[in-house]
Amino acid sequence: MTLPTGTPTQQFIGGEWRGGSGGAFEVLDPSTGEPVGEVPRAGLDDVRAAVDAAAGARSGWAAAAPRERGEVLRKAFELMIERREQIAYLMSLEMGKSLADARAEVTYAAEFFRWFSEEAVRVGGELRTAPSGANRILTFRKPVGVCLLLTPWNFPAAMATRKIGPALAAGCTVVLKPAEDTPLTALVLAQILTEAGAPAGVVNVLTTDKPGELVTAALADPRVRKLSFTGSTGVGRTLLKQAADRIVNSSMELGGNDPFLVLEDADLDAAVEGAMLAKMRNGGQACTAANRFLVHESVAGEFARRLAERMAGLRLGPGTSEDTQLGPMINARAVEGIADKVDRSVAAGARALIGGARPDRPGFFYPATVLADVPRDSAVAVEEVFGPVAPIVAVRDDEDALAIANASELGLTGYVYTATWAAACTSASGSRSAWSGSTAGSSPIRRRPSAASSSPAWVARAGSRASTSTSRPVTSPRTGEATSPVTGWSSRRRVGRGRSGGPRRSVLKRRNRCAR
Ligand code: NAD
Repeated sequence: MTLPTGTPTQQFIGGEWRGGSGGAFEVLDPSTGEPVGEVPRAGLDDVRAAVDAAAGARSGWAAAAPRERGEVLRKAFELMIERREQIAYLMSLEMGKSLADARAEVTYAAEFFRWFSEEAVRVGGELRTAPSGANRILTFRKPVGVCLLLTPWNFPAAMATRKIGPALAAGCTVVLKPAEDTPLTALVLAQILTEAGAPAGVVNVLTTDKPGELVTAALADPRVRKLSFTGSTGVGRTLLKQAADRIVNSSMELGGNDPFLVLEDADLDAAVEGAMLAKMRNGGQACTAANRFLVHESVAGEFARRLAERMAGLRLGPGTSEDTQLGPMINARAVEGIADKVDRSVAAGARALIGGARPDRPGFFYPATVLADVPRDSAVAVEEVFGPVAPIVAVRDDEDALAIANASELGLTGYVYTATWAAACTSASGSRSAWSGSTAGSSPIRRRPSAASSSPAWVARAGSRASTSTSRPVTSPRTGEATSPVTGWSSRRRVGRGRSGGPRRSVLKRRNRCAR
């Protein structure tokens, strides 16, 4: 496979495309393991140049009229939608996701630009009376300054727009460092933002396969005022320690080990349908992917059989083929990690109903796998698998299911299938996941349009352990249309309703002053 004509393959610093002083590295097509192109490896002087550019553009961009900043984001949204096919193809090529998933991601990603184009003109403040009654307290919101944005490979467009959108809306400038496996989509975003009118230096993109060195250097620069990271919990922990040295304002979106509960009274057809979405979107490589299926012992066998039947029907192939339903994993290391967890779990007593062995073909493939009789302390039941593996753990009752669901350091999303609203509410409020998607089988709401990964008819927020969630439009994998994280309804009415301000505030700092 070759790169589409016009794909940028250089770093973007201060409005110019540039090579890197650290050499170059290859970008692979995960469906073949062969290179599709090469991008620069940033050296320390590139890091300095990018921060120089972002710091140089900072005051001009912060002073630009909010409407002007909003218009840039709005135009970028339109360009992304206009170029959905090209961007989706490139993303499939470098990341491996199916074209259907890639198209849905482009829409989802573009929605962050649209959302924040509208938020740019709503930067507010507060006026309060001091407790003494003698003074008024005015709170201004100001852009933090230069933001360092670090994104993972699994959503190469959406994780970048989700960070760039609020930063630019607030008047911040950014240095984006995409994951080493998927730098090309990020470079296309820089191209689009420039075309949309972002002035030189406002958006800078550095590429490297040695992220530790680059990030350490950037975080040591006093002009970098904000770190926004999405990725694994281990790397997030390291970065928080580094950020603490200079007390850099940090936002972390980390790993998940998401439970999917099927209670005794659940509608199994609905549960299997939901499991397909929650497990298989993006080949199981999503932080919100169902990772552990905790199924009542009376229905565990039947649920496993039906899920295996559905998953066995998925067509494995290169993401860029129109008929592919399950693409390759991101790289060889990921496949080894998945295989290792499955092998250890099978050795501990789990039984593979389908899959469980690497296919004999080039590229980084792992087949759809359903494991039954999974011991609750085995590797697939306690570690984030990040692949197309559905481990089914039989549970005695609802309390047993909740206890296992909550016995994890990682809490991000949880799913519950039951026939009764009472059980759904109890499970959601007892869950320590940041997001809970529940479907009560007998509810008429179940038949309404579905939300992103879970088909939830109802989503509630409960306590979060390891992750911070931010407001985000969610895309329906069926339609590619953004849906509300709260209800799954179409974006036209409800994207992010009632949840605005999260990401925007994170790139704004509060200034308090007293005035008479
Ligand atoms: P990762 O932590 O390996 O990498 C994420 C980013 O950090 C990449 O840009 C990478 O280059 C960089 N990085 C890696 N090591 C670094 C270091 N030592 N110093 C500085 N930067 C470093 O994660 P990944 O494998 O790219 O992504 C998968 C993980 O991300 C999963 O755990 C998944 O659950 C999580 N994730 C979370 C969310 C969310 O919204 N919470 C979204 C997507 C992915």
